[in-house]
Amino acid sequence: MQDVLVVADLRGATLRNVTLEALYGAGVIAQGGRVTALLCGHNVSSLAETLFAHGAHEVLVVDDERLQVYQPELYRKAVQAAVDEVNPRTVLFAHSAVGRDLAPAIAALYRAGQVSDVIGIAAKDDQVIYTRPVYAGKAFTKNEITGDLAIVTIRPNNLPVSEFMQASKTAKKLDVSFGGDLRTTIKDVMKKVSGGVDLTEAKIIVSGGRGVKSAEGFEPLRELARVLGAAVGASRGACDAGYCDYAMQIGQTGKVVTPDLYIACGISGAIQHLAGMSNAKVIVAINKDPEAPIFKVADYGIVGDLFEVVPALTQELRAFLG
Ligand code: FAD
Repeated sequence: MQDVLVVADLRGATLRNVTLEALYGAGVIAQGGRVTALLCGHNVSSLAETLFAHGAHEVLVVDDERLQVYQPELYRKAVQAAVDEVNPRTVLFAHSAVGRDLAPAIAALYRAGQVSDVIGIAAKDDQVIYTRPVYAGKAFTKNEITGDLAIVTIRPNNLPVSEFMQASKTAKKLDVSFGGDLRTTIKDVMKKVSGGVDLTEAKIIVSGGRGVKSAEGFEPLRELARVLGAAVGASRGACDAGYCDYAMQIGQTGKVVTPDLYIACGISGAIQHLAGMSNAKVIVAINKDPEAPIFKVADYGIVGDLFEVVPALTQELRAFLG
């Protein structure tokens, strides 16, 4: 039994689903111990209700206008204050841009052990085992963190979310003295992709490769994505060719995704691309080359021209889904 702190990951003023997955993981680790969630932001305390409903026993809120955007020094101080208040054995972060920046800083501060990009958690007695992929997803390691404090980042879309529980508790305000000696000032945040579905949290991804042939060639994929409520991703081949933004790149040097459904269109299936998507639950590949390596990992393969197959699929799905 141990106490666990979950640092909530927000996208603007909404909770990212990975936070609820982390709360599930926290329940597994705690084994009856206390699960506390930390909310950092401005005017975000209403989100505490969702955290309580998905397993938090206690919610701490650090509210400050300057926390509206991620500021590493302020966030680090807020998490530090929460760790000192709760004295947890384990702190869970999302394996997001924010979590990947914040978690090592906290680990260094407390000289704690860290496991990143965790996709599975198993706990028995005092032992907690974290599973994470290595060698671009070709193998998995089982890790245990010894020492007084464990820092863990959770990959989105891998742990379940606890059943919704009716909860009527009140969040607690945590006062943090930020001081005025900040070495970093955030002047502006420029979002590369606005709106749409977040790739790392998407349940369905329609992805395009060099086979789409142009920026306009992505349009049929976007249409299919609209019908499915999916996000649109890309291979590095498509990004390098200038057909789309690098923010859409999936793979070893791009984003790692674990959707329920991944539809790869005109993507050959290079090892570096597979590193980012081969753990998708169902993979559909559309490629005109029957020998394309993507078919080796695909659950369903369609050999054909994507400019014929994708619109036909969109039409059928639109009729089916209404
Ligand atoms: P191609 O390999 O050119 O494949 C295009 C495919 O489209 C072909 O299979 C072709 O048959 C098919 N096609 C063509 N026209 C049609 C059509 N009309 N209908 C249907 N199919 C069609 N790649 C990534 O994706 N992500 C990464 O993160 C990444 N990181 C890398 C890191 C390093 C260090 C290196 C060296 C490489 C990395 N790469 C990465 C690049 C990777 O090796 C491949 O070059 C890249 O994935 C190829 O992209 P592609 O499949 O879109 O293009």
